[in-house]
Amino acid sequence: MNRPELLIPAGNLEKMQTAVLYGADAVYVGVTGLSLRASLAEMPVADLAAGVNEAHAKGVKVYAAVNTFARNADLQKARQIIPALAAIHVDALIVSDPGIIRLIRALEPHLPIHLSTQANTTNAEAVRFWRDQGVKRIVLSRELNLEEVGEIAAAVPEVELELFVHGAMCMAYSGRCYLSAYRNQRSANEGDCTQSCRWEYLLYESTRPVEPLILEEDKRYTYLLSSKDLCLIDHLPEILAAGVSSLKIEGRMKSTHYVAVVARTYRWAINTLVHHPENYRCNPQWLAELKKISYRGYTTGFAFAEEKINDTSPEIKYIQTHELAGTVLQYDPVQKRILLGVRNHLAAGDEVELLLPDDTVKIDTRMMVDTSGKQLQEANNCNQVYLPFNQEAPIGSVVRKEVK
Ligand code: SF4
Repeated sequence: MNRPELLIPAGNLEKMQTAVLYGADAVYVGVTGLSLRASLAEMPVADLAAGVNEAHAKGVKVYAAVNTFARNADLQKARQIIPALAAIHVDALIVSDPGIIRLIRALEPHLPIHLSTQANTTNAEAVRFWRDQGVKRIVLSRELNLEEVGEIAAAVPEVELELFVHGAMCMAYSGRCYLSAYRNQRSANEGDCTQSCRWEYLLYESTRPVEPLILEEDKRYTYLLSSKDLCLIDHLPEILAAGVSSLKIEGRMKSTHYVAVVARTYRWAINTLVHHPENYRCNPQWLAELKKISYRGYTTGFAFAEEKINDTSPEIKYIQTHELAGTVLQYDPVQKRILLGVRNHLAAGDEVELLLPDDTVKIDTRMMVDTSGKQLQEANNCNQVYLPFNQEAPIGSVVRKEVK
């Protein structure tokens, strides 16, 4: 069996390091000013250069998203950024706009081009078209089912196919949506979606008050526009059999805890699949892990859908049982303790778990001390504290705690 690529989102340098630590084969990042994500999930080229060096040292590839739909005013910036990205040795550019593809081919013809899901590629002829423009890989539309994916792979085997297997779903066609721009003056088409589709809505028709539209799904609201999150960990064999070579996780805006959990869990699943393809079963522990990140209920989306609809339900609200408590800054092998950079808030006695790449270990927080050795009852965001831990913990390991 071919080993599929596990492709993890990285909104900044820390998340990139987290993705690498927990098992990514490749990461994708936004580039400041030319990516379809808000500035918080973009990296300047200088930061990216450091990240590329670190990732390459661990054998992990880095794909840079320059998938804005460029206006004329963006082209000059693109002419500067494309050679800069080639110079820092990113492994591919993720692109939506034909104009940007043309510029890449003119300026850096050897730089591989991956076509973004924003380009909405849904059929074999479209894949051939993009292949003829020099595209090496296509990120297929989330709206395809696996039968359609398999037909495309069989028809155009020379083009690599990448598919989203986990993360948030749009109610619109892969982000081609004006709802956020209309409601909040922040446009999804410029990477700045506020996810307004997930808000709570009431529907009234004022001209026919005696014929109400029954859309109420609980006592107060409808969540008709709000999709569950995609989760295909149970179906990796079918996805590989369809001809997909890269398994993509959504979420450049998501937290470090999310990156650690999805990278580690899908790493476990892929390793199991590669070593025991005939006996692959989704381990309940993997799903339990994926339910410890903030999510909205899970769905298989369009993968097996005959009707082209997203999966919505009245229960769809964010579910969050755990949050980031900190990341390991240092391990002290003499005193057998970790130095933790605290995130959010930590109180002595909180039950916390340290996520190692292959294991989850509970930590006793009752003995929390600050860097001068003073015992603490609580610590806040950005504080540094020591916690006892008698085995080596890699720098960057994530510590989480239950949300009460
Ligand atoms: S508002 Fe919802 S449907 Fe529209 S782009 Fe954002 S996530 Fe997608």
